[in-house]
Amino acid sequence: MLDTHCHLNDEQFDKDVDRVVNNFLHAGVDKAICVAWDIPSNEKAREIARKYDCVYYTVGVHPDNVADYDEQKLETLIKDAQKDERNKLVAVGEIGLDYYRIKDNKERQKKVFISQIELAFKFHLPIIIHCREAYGDTLEILKRYAPFKFGAVMHCYSGSLEYANELLKLGVKLSFTGVVTYKNANNVKEVAKSIPLDSFFLETDCPYLAPVPHRGERNEPAFVMDTAKYVADLREMSLSDLISATDQNATKFFKF
Ligand SMILES: [Zn+2]
Ligand SMILES: [Zn+2]
Repeated sequence: MLDTHCHLNDEQFDKDVDRVVNNFLHAGVDKAICVAWDIPSNEKAREIARKYDCVYYTVGVHPDNVADYDEQKLETLIKDAQKDERNKLVAVGEIGLDYYRIKDNKERQKKVFISQIELAFKFHLPIIIHCREAYGDTLEILKRYAPFKFGAVMHCYSGSLEYANELLKLGVKLSFTGVVTYKNANNVKEVAKSIPLDSFFLETDCPYLAPVPHRGERNEPAFVMDTAKYVADLREMSLSDLISATDQNATKFFKF
């Protein structure tokens, strides 16, 4: 089982990252992707991936952090990764648009999103998309760049089934967090239940969004198992079949 999106580089894990990694290995999660959101978190993700065999990482600048985005710096980080004895950089992310917290820099967000899509294309890497309250603009940009030869996934999918189908048409995969286990998340449940088995994978987005029965606690990669159980039940299939399908999707996508 894989956790395709976690933030072990978040300061909430500074004290016990060893224990958290051991926990997920014991829970049957054999790989986790540590996702960056700004320059310091990029560097920290790489350090964690160097320390733990089972951790991979991404480089990217989240839409909340576009103010000091520097394309040159990001390109250097990708080139640095290629110099590593074992290059564990698997994607550019998380990148995208977020009009929930900051709404007055939409043009800047779009520019930075596009710049990072082009960087990913240049280095033949897949992209991990973050989208919050920016569905129209995100789709418009993705349409310009589809089909995604090197892969694209919208992480923490929480849109409608109709929007999901638009993304699937463009060749964009979806990824579900613990949100799918929440009582009021009916639209996410509907999407997770009905999209093709080869079009999605699972993640925690920890330390945020812990699945039931851990809702409200600090989330960690081990808990991706609770989301897997929930989605297997939703789809009326066995847990092992669900895990083997989503693992296959993620392994192909991130080229492990
Ligand atoms: Zn995100
Ligand atoms: Zn995230």
